[in-house]
Amino acid sequence: MTPHRVCLLPGDGIGPEVISSAEEVLSALPLEWEFARAEIGYGAYERLGTSLPEPSLDAIRGSEAALFGAVTTPVAVPGYFSPVVRMRQSLVLYANLRPSRSIPHPSSRPGVDLLIVRENTEGLYSGVERTEDNGRRAITERIITRDGSERILRKAFELARTRPRKILHVVHKANILRATCGLFRQVALDLAPEYPEVELREMLVDTCAMELVRAPEQFDVIVTTNLFGDILSDEACMFVGGLGVAASANLGRQAAVFEPVHGSAPDLAGTGKANPVATLLAAALMLDHIGETACAEALRRAIEACIAAGRVTADLGGTLTTKQATTAVIRQMQNGTS
Ligand code: NAD
Repeated sequence: MTPHRVCLLPGDGIGPEVISSAEEVLSALPLEWEFARAEIGYGAYERLGTSLPEPSLDAIRGSEAALFGAVTTPVAVPGYFSPVVRMRQSLVLYANLRPSRSIPHPSSRPGVDLLIVRENTEGLYSGVERTEDNGRRAITERIITRDGSERILRKAFELARTRPRKILHVVHKANILRATCGLFRQVALDLAPEYPEVELREMLVDTCAMELVRAPEQFDVIVTTNLFGDILSDEACMFVGGLGVAASANLGRQAAVFEPVHGSAPDLAGTGKANPVATLLAAALMLDHIGETACAEALRRAIEACIAAGRVTADLGGTLTTKQATTAVIRQMQNGTS
């Protein structure tokens, strides 16, 4: 069996703890792995003078996939940049996928199975900013291109057509942002005839924010621009268990990085209380991506069984440590019991 080459990027805070958990769980699957570890984050900045060393980018490019923990991004360190945004742009990880699925837990709403597909490199996060008039006026350019819109919208149509309901909501604010959102919307309408099996619906972003709270089960796939997707996907994870169980994928043509949605949680770092499930679900997305879908499903089933049995960390009302929650998932996968 040829081993899967995976780059692990632990990062800061609870990042190393949840990445170790994922490494343990992946190693317990009937697969061969070749893990490489690479530096990222504030610790890397302190040691090496950069939060995203070039060898780390090379290690990601040289792997089938990467699994990233979390980083600390201090606001007041001059010259420091967020390696997360930089990594997405350097590797052109243009598609950010954030699934939100109901979990068997009282904090989760039932019947939710939605996927947010967020454009990850353009829009208000293009990084084109300036100040004028001696700092009295600040300008951020919102850049939307036809090519950038087409590649993310195609990805969304393609994902929607593999799902049972095949409904794609394109979310925008084209009534006000006529140039930028207008272009994004128009590209969606132009592509729709190529995907006749997908039902394309459109919704304004403010309505979508409200509808997600009112009736999240109506959504199947949502595709939207960078900032809107960032906000809507954080909103969406809160009614299916919260940050401890929210995972995402960043996909490009030459690299793929999988990560929990949460940050480095400095309040939890070193306490052994971090929930590893978000990172384990990111690992399941990675398994799907590298073609190991049976293992991905087995891992997701084991996680759900542990949650249903209350074998969880404190954020989900349990008493397990990160290590114990990891062992519970492995036992559930191997013996059908945790
Ligand atoms: P955070 O996601 O780290 O924590 C928010 C809250 O959720 C905290 O109460 C934390 O204890 C809890 N939490 C987070 N992950 C958890 C887990 N696995 N299990 C249980 N509880 C968990 O967000 P923050 O506190 O706003 O930011 C902390 C640092 O992380 C900042 O420096 C921020 O810039 C950075 N950050 C990084 C990323 C990333 O690496 N992708 C994302 C968001 C924030």
